[in-house]
Amino acid sequence: MTLLFVSTHEDPAAWTAELRARLTEVPLRVWPELPDPDAVEYALVWAPPPGLLATLPNLKVVFSVGAGVDALLADPDLPRVPLVRMVEPGLTEGMTDYVCQQVLAWHRRGPLFARQQREAVWRPVLHQKLARERKVGILGMGALGADAARTLAALRFDVAGWSRTPKSLPGVQSFHGPEGLAPFLARTEILVCLLPLTPETDGILDRRLFAALPRGAVVINAARGRHLVEQDLLAALDSGQLAGATLDVFREEPLPHTHPFWSHPKIVVTPHIAAITQPRTAVAQVVEGIRRHRAGQPLEHLVDRDRGY
Ligand code: NDP
Repeated sequence: MTLLFVSTHEDPAAWTAELRARLTEVPLRVWPELPDPDAVEYALVWAPPPGLLATLPNLKVVFSVGAGVDALLADPDLPRVPLVRMVEPGLTEGMTDYVCQQVLAWHRRGPLFARQQREAVWRPVLHQKLARERKVGILGMGALGADAARTLAALRFDVAGWSRTPKSLPGVQSFHGPEGLAPFLARTEILVCLLPLTPETDGILDRRLFAALPRGAVVINAARGRHLVEQDLLAALDSGQLAGATLDVFREEPLPHTHPFWSHPKIVVTPHIAAITQPRTAVAQVVEGIRRHRAGQPLEHLVDRDRGY
């Protein structure tokens, strides 16, 4: 029995140190070192080469380093074994930090004052809403969305969330399903996307959705680049329907040098850093998952392949 760690993106050193320290009962192999593929029962993966996992005949569980599994599910050769997505406190808290930073920045006109400073312009804006008067809406109320919603509510924002199924979070209004989307958007001044990328959510941030927000709303996308229809965003910013956007994720990453988002005065770009899985806290989740599997207990955070998340 072996755990194979596969990462084509991350420096494996921090991960292997944590894995070696905590995973005492299961031998570890770090791809591309793979002397005995038959021995591999567990795989912990971040952007594995397509087809690699299909070469492991005794694979029992795949653990994803990332919370989003859209890229893994796109591999037609992904073995039909349980797939566990990443839910860990480091990732969740990091995303909540990012969302609060961006919501507060737009709420307090941060991008406007940054521009005024660059131009040495002293132009106070004396009308300032309080957080309790600012309506924030979170698309996706899962591990990440729910924590961000709770924290924004604790900062006194007027928070609502939209999900497939209804939620009950103190101080957070719940909307759900296709019929809940329009009333949710109609009350949302700052919209945060934390949805998984699935066939249903692909391109959800489009012209129709922007038109359903109040004029002058702001959009923050920290989920996946494909949620956003880029031309529709540019048109909504140009027409004034949207006042601004913060984008952490893009259809093409790295964002090409010539892309109009880089220099757009109403767009804040960050390079897919909203939340990073933290090896220390994440490895604890993986070790617990392996322990549960070996003890015959149900796995947590299993991906439902039919839903796509
Ligand atoms: P979860 O699976 O925990 O939550 C997903 C949420 O989206 C759920 O509330 C779900 O509803 C809702 N949802 C899914 N499909 C629909 C739909 N069709 N209509 C309405 N609601 C829907 O995911 P996480 O919170 O862990 O992560 C969300 C995404 O964030 C990831 O998939 C990933 O793409 C992205 N991400 C981005 C990072 C970055 O650095 N930029 C870092 C980490 C993650 P319900 O609860 O009813 O099932």
